[in-house]
Amino acid sequence: MLSIDPLTKPPSIDLKLPGSKSITNRALVLAALAKGTSTLHRALFAEDTLAMIDCLRKLGVNIATDELNEEIVVTGCAGQLRSNGDPLWVRQSGTTARFIMPLAALAQTEVLINGDPQILKRPHGELFDVLKKMGVEIRFEGEENHLPARINGAALHVEKLHVNVEQSSQYLSALLLSAPCMPNDMALSLDGDAVSMPYLQMTLSMMNTFGASVEEVKKNQFHIRASGYKAKDYEIEPDASTASYFFATAALSKGRVKVEGLGKASIQGDIEFVDLLEQMGAEVTRNEQAIEVRGTDVLQGVHASMKNFSDTAPTLAVIAPSASTPSSVSGIGFIAYKESDRIAAVVTELQKLGIEAEDNGDGFTIQPGTVKPGIVHTYDDHRIAMAFTVLGLISNGVTLDDPECVAKTAPDFFEYVDQLRLEGDQELAILAIDGPAGSGKTSLAKRIANETGLEYLDTGAMYRSVAAKVIEEGIDPEDKELVIAIANRISIVFEGEEVFVEGDRLTDTIRSPQVNAVVSYVAANPGVRSILRRAQRSWARKRGGGVLEGRDIGTVVFPQARLKVYVTATPEERAKRRSLESGRPMEEILQEITGRDKIDSSRMDSPLSISNDALMVDSTGKTIDEVAEEILSSFHV
Ligand code: C5P
Repeated sequence: MLSIDPLTKPPSIDLKLPGSKSITNRALVLAALAKGTSTLHRALFAEDTLAMIDCLRKLGVNIATDELNEEIVVTGCAGQLRSNGDPLWVRQSGTTARFIMPLAALAQTEVLINGDPQILKRPHGELFDVLKKMGVEIRFEGEENHLPARINGAALHVEKLHVNVEQSSQYLSALLLSAPCMPNDMALSLDGDAVSMPYLQMTLSMMNTFGASVEEVKKNQFHIRASGYKAKDYEIEPDASTASYFFATAALSKGRVKVEGLGKASIQGDIEFVDLLEQMGAEVTRNEQAIEVRGTDVLQGVHASMKNFSDTAPTLAVIAPSASTPSSVSGIGFIAYKESDRIAAVVTELQKLGIEAEDNGDGFTIQPGTVKPGIVHTYDDHRIAMAFTVLGLISNGVTLDDPECVAKTAPDFFEYVDQLRLEGDQELAILAIDGPAGSGKTSLAKRIANETGLEYLDTGAMYRSVAAKVIEEGIDPEDKELVIAIANRISIVFEGEEVFVEGDRLTDTIRSPQVNAVVSYVAANPGVRSILRRAQRSWARKRGGGVLEGRDIGTVVFPQARLKVYVTATPEERAKRRSLESGRPMEEILQEITGRDKIDSSRMDSPLSISNDALMVDSTGKTIDEVAEEILSSFHV
């Protein structure tokens, strides 16, 4: 569950968003098939692209990833994919499922393709039919025309092919991407009226960049030479579909959002979404390097076909209630077969929030109205979760039942959302106290909270609560996914000195040596940090500020805090204090806290470090009163 805090001020921000999912997955395929080594810059690291990386590796491609610098280095196989018999797991990713099928055929041996339950429900009949015509043997493990399927391209050959593109253009993109590495040239004819045409253009344009020879002989007929691909140093554009949520927020809140690196010449069809915002009354500025949206006083409804940029239809759906007139979207019947039935999903959830909305089969109609509080079901669909977050930013009481599904294409989505709050958060009276274990932060925070009338939050107790649950449930603290699921599930409630986790009193348990031993491993998990950070920020916003103590409050949670303090003391002094508190031997504690400091300072995500503008306080040999006085002379509520 995530209750979305409404914005307190319109955003005004230049955003650097992560790379496009569609471009990253295409670039991975092209680089894998190319001759030579390619470097992909601003690559997206999300469920869907990790799925593609895993599958390509299993087809013998060497891929090195550098998540921190958003870079992927791919050693291309010059079209010579090979399988050692390991099954491919596409997770939930539609592009991976489709793009990998002809690639598996290129390995010319039997390859099993499988994935999460959601993708097993999505149909791929058109693509299987074309592959069969190419001599590929396909055996379905479950339902006909669905994954899991065994693909064997031992008898792979290419001739004139027809492909129907009325339900998804991903089939055609899949065939096109693999075509230059087929045994001979491919002639492709399209049947039907293609949906998501811009995605086809994206495929063709990227194939071109990687040195393919594709000729559109006449309308809807392509000739692709079997001349392979060449490696490239390739810069991926920021994700235009993800950008839609931020542009929409600007339009709705009368704010300003600029997305850098997403220019008017973008190869992503979803930038057309800003044309609709413009029609509705927002101000849009486009140049080569960026697109910027500014909200104005009135938004009018629109009537539009979103056939070419349907991924942003849920985004439009959440803007529509704020328009002065009704809106309707058509041409998107096929989105019923995406991660969820997206038309039904947006209509049902808007109705739940008191908005009049209608499913027209081919699209939806939405009336202007006021949103009432409610819990939105996200259908395990990242786009539904992200779209309704926008609604939560401008209305009171919108809660998502499963926010984590955004990880499919935007794992850091809520961190970016928090950047929209920078203006509003500047008004909060935040005192950030960071420092290593036993430096006296908690006693200080309590003392200062008392003096100033603010409340205090012991963020370490939150990490400890997750660790206590990890131990209780017998989970390996290094199992990232399971630990994240716990952080996501549990409720942590503070009542004075007491801590309740899922209703159980864990005040003493969270301070036990067992918890001390694992808490830093749990706290080094970026997924856990992101969930707890969100809760910490929300806690402070609800109170107009507060005294927060931890390891990353001044550096990451509230970098614009009114005052940042870094408290420290010698390791011996810190161990002595803890030993006096707990009655445990000082030597044992010294070892424990220095071990913890080491992990806390060296982890990748928000390590314990001293902010440049922090007030440094050495508490060695000082009383709490002396240190509190030092801090209070610089902090005013
Ligand atoms: O403050 P305390 O010692 O109770 O914190 C326990 C552990 O929680 C720390 O050693 C650290 O690993 C983690 N922590 C953190 N970030 C915070 C607060 C605590 O990583 N803001």
